[in-house]
Amino acid sequence: MTDAHRVNDPDRPPLRPTRAEVDLDALTRNLGRLRDAADGAMVCAVVKADGYGHGAVRCARAAVAAGAEWLAVALVEEAEVLRAAGIDAPIAIFSEPPLHAIPRMLDARVTPSVHTAAFGRALDAAARDRGERVTVHLNVDSGMGRVGVPEDGWEAFVTEVAAWEHVRVEAIWTHMARADEPAAPTTEQQQDGFDRFLALAGRAGLTWDFVHAGNSASALVQPRARRDLVRVGIAMYGLSPSTEVTADAHDLEPVMRLVTEVAYAKRIAAGTPVSYGHTWCAPVDGWLATVPVGYADGVPRLLSNRGAFLIGGERRPIAGTVTMDQTMVWCGDHEPRIGDEVVLLGTQGSGRVTADDWAAWAETITYEVTCGISARVPRTGRRASTGRD
Ligand SMILES: *Cc1c(COP(=O)(O)O)cnc(C)c1O
Repeated sequence: MTDAHRVNDPDRPPLRPTRAEVDLDALTRNLGRLRDAADGAMVCAVVKADGYGHGAVRCARAAVAAGAEWLAVALVEEAEVLRAAGIDAPIAIFSEPPLHAIPRMLDARVTPSVHTAAFGRALDAAARDRGERVTVHLNVDSGMGRVGVPEDGWEAFVTEVAAWEHVRVEAIWTHMARADEPAAPTTEQQQDGFDRFLALAGRAGLTWDFVHAGNSASALVQPRARRDLVRVGIAMYGLSPSTEVTADAHDLEPVMRLVTEVAYAKRIAAGTPVSYGHTWCAPVDGWLATVPVGYADGVPRLLSNRGAFLIGGERRPIAGTVTMDQTMVWCGDHEPRIGDEVVLLGTQGSGRVTADDWAAWAETITYEVTCGISARVPRTGRRASTGRD
């Protein structure tokens, strides 16, 4: 049973001006830069978590059109969304779902990742019952410490894999823990470890077609981790993997622009307190704008009295606490008008606010910024600016 309708129902267009504009041309250009950086490796476009908040279906379509050989997701349910939209490209998954997910995973033609014998056996049995042979990617733990066959269990695991008659190993893969810290020695150590896994598997008679070991940061700055395929998420969306591996340094363009309009504006006297807890007071007489976006939309409450939005082509500081649905912005001498464009993420005039800024203000990483933009915010195509400048 589904609800009669929901916020952001396509048949009931949004009334509030707050929206996330998604620029698929920027995504295409970013993917081209990543392909150049990857130096001949295949590209897997990572569209888990609704394409890091950008919309999985539109981003997957654009990535495949731009030449991505693979897509990847975290959940079987996410793969089902892509298949239901008619997307046909190979889809990898980053972990083992629960055993009861296997029939739907195979129906969705997901390429399973396997790191436990129990899951591999269950897959083998399911494939036999369906009269199919299932192609898998074996995940090994070279130092991430999340999922993956540990090195001391690898030999026994490889022996077990050989007994699965309905399972074919297409790839062996691993994941780097610190690829976004170029000075960390662990990426080289993990690559050495991965080579040991591969050598042992080869000696045991296992065969496979290709290997993969790298994410966005690996594609950009870790040549050894590129291997045969790079799994790129954050950089495809034009965002920095870390403060050391930045979008700007690699000429990547943010795909998401988050915009709204001034909903209310007034002049207030010096000393006037604003918002819950009265944590901010006007320093002098000046203009205050109320913006229709809040923490329920994914503006972190940590941006209270720290962050800034763009109004009239310049950064204007957030005044007082971010509330659930509305945020106040101090404009000083600049008089904002109801309907003026407000840019939360993006550029306006000479001003710019990036996911790196939000990540610093909110003590997090760029990934959490766009993943956190809630389902209440409609995703639209790129529109012409409505700003005054
Ligand atoms: C999410 C994820 C990626 C993508 O990482 P980015 O840093 O966003 O490029 C790659 N591989 C695995 C296993 C992941 O979980």
